[in-house]
Amino acid sequence: MNNGVWGILFLLVTVLSGQANASPALVATEPSLILITDVALDGVGGTLHDAHIQITDGKIVSLSADERNKKIIDLRGYTVLPGWIDAHVHIASHFDRTGQLATDKEPQSESTLEMAQAAWETMMAGFTTIQSVGELSEEPLRDALRDQRLPGPRFLTSLAPIQGNLSASADELRALVRERKAQGADLIKIFASSSQRVGAKPTLTEGQLRVLCHEAEAVGLRSMVHAYRGQVATAARAGCREIEHATYATPADLQEAVRAGAFLTPQVGLVVQNYIENRGHYVGIDGYTDAGMEIMLGDLPQDFAVCTLLVQMRDAKVVFGTDATAGAHGHNAEEFIGRVEHCGQSPMAALVSANSTAADAIGMGDHLGRLAPGYAADIIALEGNPLKDITAVRRVAFVMRDGKVYKWTGSHTSGADR
Ligand SMILES: [Zn+2]
Repeated sequence: MNNGVWGILFLLVTVLSGQANASPALVATEPSLILITDVALDGVGGTLHDAHIQITDGKIVSLSADERNKKIIDLRGYTVLPGWIDAHVHIASHFDRTGQLATDKEPQSESTLEMAQAAWETMMAGFTTIQSVGELSEEPLRDALRDQRLPGPRFLTSLAPIQGNLSASADELRALVRERKAQGADLIKIFASSSQRVGAKPTLTEGQLRVLCHEAEAVGLRSMVHAYRGQVATAARAGCREIEHATYATPADLQEAVRAGAFLTPQVGLVVQNYIENRGHYVGIDGYTDAGMEIMLGDLPQDFAVCTLLVQMRDAKVVFGTDATAGAHGHNAEEFIGRVEHCGQSPMAALVSANSTAADAIGMGDHLGRLAPGYAADIIALEGNPLKDITAVRRVAFVMRDGKVYKWTGSHTSGADR
C-alpha cells in the first residue's frame, strides 16, 4: 500500500472516530467555552445583541457570560443562530457509483457510506438535526449519530414508511405501527396519497388514518402524513399532527388543518428543482419518468400558492422540511430562499420555521431550536445577515452540535489568556 492509500485510511479512521478536524481542540467538548457574538437570532423571532454565549457540557448555560479566563471563539461580524432542523429528508436516497439513483441492488456497504456522507454534508450546511422518512437501513446510522460515534447531525428516522392501502383492516394497520415501534422507529411516516407523479390520489381513508395516528400515539410515537388535495384536511380530522406537502389543497383544506393545530410542511425551494436539475440521474429508475418530472415542474406554481397561503394564515405552524433526495443533500438551505422568494415569507419567519417551530414539531422544543440557557449547544454562524440578504443561508462558517465545533472557517479563536 502506498502512502496515499494510508493517508486516506487514516483520514477515514479519524473521521469515523469523530476527529475529522485537524485541530483536536476544536472538536473536543470544552469544559467551558464562550461564543462572543454581536448579532444572534434566538430561534423564536428575536434578535440578541452582544450576547456572550457560555457553553458547558454541551449546553447553553448563559447568554451574558464573563469571558475572562475562558476559552473563547469570536463570532462578531457573523450572524449566529440555533442549528437548523430539517424535519423531512430522505437520507438513504443517493446516486450510486454510476451516477444513477441507487436501488436496493446496490451493496449495503456502499449505501451506508453514502448515507453517512449525506448526513455529514447536511450538517456542514448548518443542519444539526435532521429527520429522515425513511428506510429500514437507516437504523445503524441513526444509532451511530445519536451516540456520536460518527460525526454528523442529530438524526431521527421513521425507518420504512407505512404505505397506503385502502383494503387494509384496522388490525393490520395497528400491527404495522407496532412493528415499526419494535424496529426502533422515532416516528411513523404514513402515505395518505399516491405520488404527485401518478395522480396524487387518496390511498387511505379517514378511518384508516385515525387508526394509524392514534396507534402511533398509543405506542409513544409521532406520526407524519404525506398528503395531497383533500387528504390534508382528512388527515387533520383523523387527529394526525404533522402533514407534509399539501400540493393541490384548497384554502379550506389548509384552514381546517391549521385549525386542528397540525404542523404543516410545504416545499418550494429544493426538492422539485433538484429533481429537474438531476432528471437524467432519476428517469427510468423506481418509477421516475419524464412525464412525472413534467408534472412536478408544471405544478410548482401550485406549491408556491399553497405555501403563500399557509405563511399568511394566523396560527399556522409551518415547519421547515425540504424533502431532500439524491442530489439535494447539503443544499437544504435553498428552501429558505424559496420561502422568501416564492411564498413571500419574511426571512425571520422562515428561519424560525427551522428552529423553534421545527423543534416543537419533532417533540424536542424543550431543549432544541433556541438560543437560551438550558438548551442544547447546537449553534451555527453565517457570513452576512440573512434578514437583509436571505442568500446568507448558503454561507455557513461555523457549526457546533452538542457543544462540539465541527466547522469553523474563521480565525478568531483564543485561549484563556485573553
Ligand atoms: Zn418525502
